[in-house]
Amino acid sequence: MSEVERLLRPDLRGRTAYGAPQLDVPVCLNTNESSYPVPEVVVRAVLDALAADLTGLNRYPDREFTDLRKALSAYLERQAGVSVTPEQVWAGNGSNEVLSHVVQAFGGPGRTALGFTPSYSMHPIIAETLGTTWVDGLREAETFELTAGTAAAQAREHDPSVVFLCSPNNPTGTALPFEVIGAVLDAAPNAVVVVDEAYAEFARPGTPSALTLLPTHPRLVVTRTMSKAFAFAGGRLGYLVASPALVDALRLVRLPYHLSTPTQTIATVALEHAELMLSTVEAVKVQRDRLVHDLGALGATPVQSDANFVLFGGLVDEKSTWQALLERGILVRDVGIRHHLRVTAGTPAETTRFLEAMTQLAPAHV
Ligand code: PMP
Repeated sequence: MSEVERLLRPDLRGRTAYGAPQLDVPVCLNTNESSYPVPEVVVRAVLDALAADLTGLNRYPDREFTDLRKALSAYLERQAGVSVTPEQVWAGNGSNEVLSHVVQAFGGPGRTALGFTPSYSMHPIIAETLGTTWVDGLREAETFELTAGTAAAQAREHDPSVVFLCSPNNPTGTALPFEVIGAVLDAAPNAVVVVDEAYAEFARPGTPSALTLLPTHPRLVVTRTMSKAFAFAGGRLGYLVASPALVDALRLVRLPYHLSTPTQTIATVALEHAELMLSTVEAVKVQRDRLVHDLGALGATPVQSDANFVLFGGLVDEKSTWQALLERGILVRDVGIRHHLRVTAGTPAETTRFLEAMTQLAPAHV
């Protein structure tokens, strides 16, 4: 055991850090970012707003990020058609940070968090590194579906303090049947139930947001991010919506001034240009549906997707396919499910390069 390992918290020894490879390749389709750059008008507006901020950087930022909360609640009202007050909104440096605030406040030592695998890999990491016992709940083996009955039974069995649902689910891509959320809330009366909606803006028409359940469910938390549909991953801005009382409790655990002045400014300005920032969503959805169709035609087994990525199975050996794609300059994600890989829907040209590579590889790999 190294000296650092000896000093480390015993429950952290031997763990590996979150590590989606960041490689310099021509076609980067592994972390579900947008492939489209920030539009020039937004760049200009951000630069102007930042210039006005710079002389004020001798002062701490607005600890309650008041303008940003107003901008987020106005955005949600337009995007999801639900009325959300600024007091119901909380933000952090990416939705990972708001998820960790939830676990810090409602999980922790002696408490249990429940999620349904496969799902977003950071949910267990956040829970466990904050001392919360993680329970790996199960989905249907072949289809990765989660039904109200199985989710509720597992929630009842473990009596968790935090439950993670993810809709549309990463890495499978499909939105959760709406009744699962209600069933879990009923079956876990002592839990804060998180619905991670990082990919909500990509959902197929008719997919309701869990935001609509908030008025009647004070233990519900809906998390979202500007990293995906909003094409703003480098801006690091994630947020959640919950009851004002629940949001207020998060102030107990956040570090003071956690959102820097530049972060608040660039996110607020980007939200003022929401329509433009979201203007590539329909184009991304077209490439996503093309991926599902064409991968199926190659004999792979893609999962229908409500997100900006597609999980596909039917590979002989996912590790060798991942490597063969990388050798052709294409980075996709090995999400740790045997015979499967996940690919982000990028530009039409990127999708073409990926599909052409898969067509070449298919005879030996699929
Ligand atoms: N939730 C889900 C389901 C995700 O896939 C991701 C990013 N991959 C996040 C949350 C975190 O994103 P960010 O911290 O950039 O908001």
